[in-house]
Amino acid sequence: MTTSAEAVPGIPRPSAQSAALMARARQRFPGGVNSPVRAFGGVGGEPFVVARGEGARIWDVDGNEYLDYVLSWGPLVLGHAPPIVLDALADVMQKGTSFGIPTGLELQLADAVAERMPHLEMLRFVSSGTEAAMSIARLARAHTGRQHLLKFEGCYHGHADSFLVKAGSGVATLGLPNSPGVPDELAKLTLTAPFNDLEATARLARSVPLAAILLEPVVGNGGFIPPQPGFIEGLRQIADETGALLVFDEVMTGFRIAYGGARERFGVTPDLTALGKVIGGGLPVAAYGGCRALMEQIAPVGSVYQAGTLSGNPLAMAGGLATLRALTPELHARIEERTARLVHGLRTMAARHGVPLVADHAGSMFGFFFRDAPVRNFDDAKQSDVALFRRFFHAARERGVYLAPSAFEAGFVSAAHGDAEIDATLDRLDDALGAALAEGART
Ligand SMILES: *Cc1c(COP(=O)(O)O)cnc(C)c1O
Repeated sequence: MTTSAEAVPGIPRPSAQSAALMARARQRFPGGVNSPVRAFGGVGGEPFVVARGEGARIWDVDGNEYLDYVLSWGPLVLGHAPPIVLDALADVMQKGTSFGIPTGLELQLADAVAERMPHLEMLRFVSSGTEAAMSIARLARAHTGRQHLLKFEGCYHGHADSFLVKAGSGVATLGLPNSPGVPDELAKLTLTAPFNDLEATARLARSVPLAAILLEPVVGNGGFIPPQPGFIEGLRQIADETGALLVFDEVMTGFRIAYGGARERFGVTPDLTALGKVIGGGLPVAAYGGCRALMEQIAPVGSVYQAGTLSGNPLAMAGGLATLRALTPELHARIEERTARLVHGLRTMAARHGVPLVADHAGSMFGFFFRDAPVRNFDDAKQSDVALFRRFFHAARERGVYLAPSAFEAGFVSAAHGDAEIDATLDRLDDALGAALAEGART
């Protein structure tokens, strides 16, 4: 990081106020944060403290401006503080913020979801992706009378006990294999296979009766790893053959990789789906759903218990509803096109610098690895040049581009990232890569 006190256009000054606030925060919160990856453990150095956001940009408390490709880890598909969402929130807020009684807004958001994902005949709103995945595990176990789950290495399904086994996201960033505190008896019920490995999956599914096979249809939490052709179709076959439920965890990919999510993109229908992030437009909303026969096993119709004081919260519903209504197929296509431009630019940049790079996108979700061979699974991802990523991350940040502070997280583009923002980003990143390589050559 630069230590010069001189303000250089486009290059953030040292973050004095951020550093002071973080020092105090570390006394109050473990690591100074309320979710682990925010602490920059994956890249080293100090996180900045954010003051505000608008469109494609955020500003830290020291006044430094960044083009943001984290977007609150995915939810902000319209960018920061979009007037259309703020107006909807202001309107709903005047009438009260929570009731714990049905409101019409829940139904409107559920209809908006079902219009895009017709296989979600019924759903249940919850407040986080963790809750959605956890509830799906319970429902799948109850429905099948089986106990084992199968997930893929590097995939993240929130922090419920059953999913903290070879997990992605912060768990991958910090290199934690499994979390202490998860009972062995429970961890043993979660099997793992490498992503994109149908043979290993079939072998496991035939050896143990599985309640469910869960996946991120496009992995974002182990870095960006797309499924190979035939992988998702193959999982559907294995699930059907062995009586397991197929679960798409679309908390990240939903309303990102296609207007109608993974079912539309890959032509495979899952039994159950978890949603989160974009569905709340920056407010705490998540959901799980599927066909009526499965969902009617949830209380109060069925006996599988799951509840939430703030579930279906009107303010949160309004945020999601305004976001989904604005995210038309046309807008989705436009954001995807800009994401494609960004990824193309990243590849060109790397080629110019003679650096091997794997970069790709699905809809408005993207990612890259400094690696000279394809990345098909999390083991491949771990072979990428993480040291170069760290230097690149900091060089980019110094030049006003905020990338996810981990080599194992996807990035996101919003409707507010116009051609001008993409061009500015590519200019700054080109410069950043040059600096990162020069620094690497020195050390
Ligand atoms: C973010 C994420 C979760 C967890 O959601 P939270 O709201 O953070 O609990 C689960 N699954 C996937 C695929 C995610 O990306």
